[in-house]
Amino acid sequence: MQIQIPSPISGGILLSYKCTTSCKHCMYACSRKWKGDWIKKDDLERILDQLAGKIEPCAWGIGINYGLHFTGGEPFMNFRLLLKAVKIASELGIPSLFVETNCFWCRNDEFTERRLRELKDSGLDGILISVNPFIAENVPFERTERCIRLSRKIFGANVIIYQEIFYHLFKKMGLKDTLSFEKAIPALRYAELLPMGRVPYKLGHLFRKYAANAFFGQSCRNELIRSWHIHIDNYCNFIPGYCGGITLGDARDLESLKLDLEERPILKALLTDLKQLFELGKKFGYVERDYISKCHLCVDVRRHLAMNADFDELQPLEFYSHLDD
Ligand code: SF4
Repeated sequence: MQIQIPSPISGGILLSYKCTTSCKHCMYACSRKWKGDWIKKDDLERILDQLAGKIEPCAWGIGINYGLHFTGGEPFMNFRLLLKAVKIASELGIPSLFVETNCFWCRNDEFTERRLRELKDSGLDGILISVNPFIAENVPFERTERCIRLSRKIFGANVIIYQEIFYHLFKKMGLKDTLSFEKAIPALRYAELLPMGRVPYKLGHLFRKYAANAFFGQSCRNELIRSWHIHIDNYCNFIPGYCGGITLGDARDLESLKLDLEERPILKALLTDLKQLFELGKKFGYVERDYISKCHLCVDVRRHLAMNADFDELQPLEFYSHLDD
């Protein structure tokens, strides 16, 4: 049975999985330990060329799940590539373009403003600034404040602070430097945490856990086969939604992206019933543990399969070795 993958109407491009931090909530297991590959210019051009005309604009400028964003990893680690990506996308008329950053690079006003202005002049519409206890562990808050202040000057209303509640909380605390994670634990109740990617491994102790059969009978059809908010990584993997470590195929050829489920047993299982994935894992020696969510069960079985078997839909393999970073 073949399934046609719908054309994306919004999404993000991971320029690399390389990041300056290893956030405990990262869905894509990014960290400084990754090899550090960046998307090739030819691939970027081909991908953006195909997205042109498909990506729909956000009615109010930029929005988290609208338009197209450049992310990582931390895209400002390779500013020249980011600038090139923005230029190409803008020239192609892709709407609601923004970049996502952890602000590590905002060391002084002059440098920060210059980079933001270069991006704006190249066609960037706005910026998403990550503010949460995981970033605050590694990035001095004064850099985040600087980025917000100067971004508002340059991009006006097209500045998303995600999550705004942490910005106000950290300001109220008078935070300037980094914040130890232990001190931030009480504030975690405000965090919008998706219990997937690295969360089960780094924050699992904060959640109630369940046996595998609590998630049997559920499928991921809505998460895997959808047009809104997909991601494409630097290896050209077409990532469904936020499901790091899964590829639906080569994003350089969107029109011919089809899933032959007989050739993709993991995707077939996920589209049918999580129980089938669990059973597949057991055939390869997977041993049950307890789980905070269906995505925890999924990523844990997939990690075992990625390490012990050969499934084309589990890409990039390096993702599975950075879940504990
Ligand atoms: S269970 Fe797996 S495939 Fe389904 S949404 Fe979670 S990570 Fe994605």
